[in-house]
Amino acid sequence: MPRALITGITGQDGAYLSQLLLEKGYEVSGLLRRSASAEVMGERLRWLGVQDRVRMVDGDLMDLSSIIRAIQEVKPDEVYNLGAQSFVKTSWDQPLLTGNVTAMGAHNVIEAVRLAAPEARFYQASSSEMFGKIQQQQQSEKTPFYPRSPYAVAKLYAHWITVNYRESFGMHASSGILFNHESPLRGIEFVTRKVTDGVARIKLGLAKELPMGNLDATRDWGHAKDYVRAMWLMLQQEAPDDYVVATGRTISVREMCRVAFACADLDYQDFVTVDARFMRPAEVDVLHGDPAKAKAKLGWEPTISFEQMMAEMVEADIARHQSRMR
Ligand code: NDP
Ligand code: GDP
Repeated sequence: MPRALITGITGQDGAYLSQLLLEKGYEVSGLLRRSASAEVMGERLRWLGVQDRVRMVDGDLMDLSSIIRAIQEVKPDEVYNLGAQSFVKTSWDQPLLTGNVTAMGAHNVIEAVRLAAPEARFYQASSSEMFGKIQQQQQSEKTPFYPRSPYAVAKLYAHWITVNYRESFGMHASSGILFNHESPLRGIEFVTRKVTDGVARIKLGLAKELPMGNLDATRDWGHAKDYVRAMWLMLQQEAPDDYVVATGRTISVREMCRVAFACADLDYQDFVTVDARFMRPAEVDVLHGDPAKAKAKLGWEPTISFEQMMAEMVEADIARHQSRMR
C-alpha cells in the first residue's frame, strides 16, 4: 500500500486529495497543527466522508522538528505540501507570518524530506499568483513571474526552492503552478465562495446585498476535484517537473457573479455593491493559463465546467443555510 503525507490536509485541496488517494488504495496521513477548536478542523474531510480513513500526525509548518518526526513516523512514498497561509488579502495584513508559513514552511517540508525520506516524491503547491502582473497574455511554465502580493512573493520562494532541491540533490520534487480552483469546500473568504454563500443568504432572505471588491479582475477558474488529480499525476511521472494547471478560459468577477446569481434565478445587479474594503493594495488584473504541457505530458484535462461548478457551489450553500435554519 503506497503511503502519502499531506500538509494542509484540513484545507480544500487536502480534503479532495485525501479522497482521491484513498480511492487509489493509499494509506493517507496528514499534518495537523494544534488548535483550540480541534473538533471543527476536520469539517471538509467529514463533508467528503473520509475523516475516519486518514491518520493525523501533530505538526506545524513552522516547526522543522515536528515535520521530521511526522515523516519518520509515516515513512511516506509521496509528500504533498499543500499547507500555507493561502489568502492573498490577508498576506498584506500578516506579511511576515505569510513568509514564515508559505515560504519557509515549504522549505522546512522539503528539507525534512531530504533528511528523513530522500527517496520520497515531493509536490509543492505553487500558484498562478506568481505570474501577478502578467508578462504574457496566456501564462505557461515559460512565462516570467512578477508577484504582486506578499503571498505571491512567498510562493515564489517555495517554488524556486523546490526547483533548487531537484537540481541540487536529485530529488523527485515537482511544482504544480495551479490557477484558481474552487468547490463547495473553498474557504468562505475567497471570491467564488463568498458569492455563492451570498447568493444563498439572499435567496433565503437572510441578506439583502453583497458588498464586493474589484469586479473587473479576471481569473481562470477550475474545480479542485480536477486539480488534485493533476497533483497526483505529477508524482507518477518518471521525472519530476513543473506544470501549469488551468482551464485555458478566463472569466471576470462580474461575470462570475452573474452566473452564480442566475443559478438561483436572481439578477446580480440587484444585489452586488462595490465596497472599498474589499479592494487590494496591488491587484492581479488578469490570469489566463495555458495548460498545454499538462495535457500533453500528464494526459490531464478538466472535466467539470465553470457553470457546473458554480451551480454545485450555490446548491451546497443553499443546503447549508437551510440546515442551519431548521
Ligand atoms: P486552504 O487555505 O483551504 O488550506 C490551507 C491549509 O494549510 C489548511 O489545512 C491549514 O490548516 C494549513 N496550514 C496553514 N498554516 C499552517 C501551519 N502553520 N502549519 C500546518 N498547516 C498549516 O488552501 P487550499 O486547499 O485552497 O490550497 C492548497 C494549497 O494550494 C495552498 O498552499 C494554496 O496556497 C495553494 N494554491 C491554491 C489555489 C486555489 O485556487 N485553491 C491556487 C494555487 C495554489 P488549518 O485548517 O489548521 O488552517
Ligand atoms: P486570489 O486570486 O487568490 O486572490 O483569489 P480570490 O478569490 O481571493 O480573489 C480573486 C479576485 O477577485 C481578485 O482579483 C480579487 O480582487 C477579486 N475580488 C473582488 N471582490 C472580492 C471580494 O469581495 N473578495 C475576494 N476574496 N476577492 C474579490
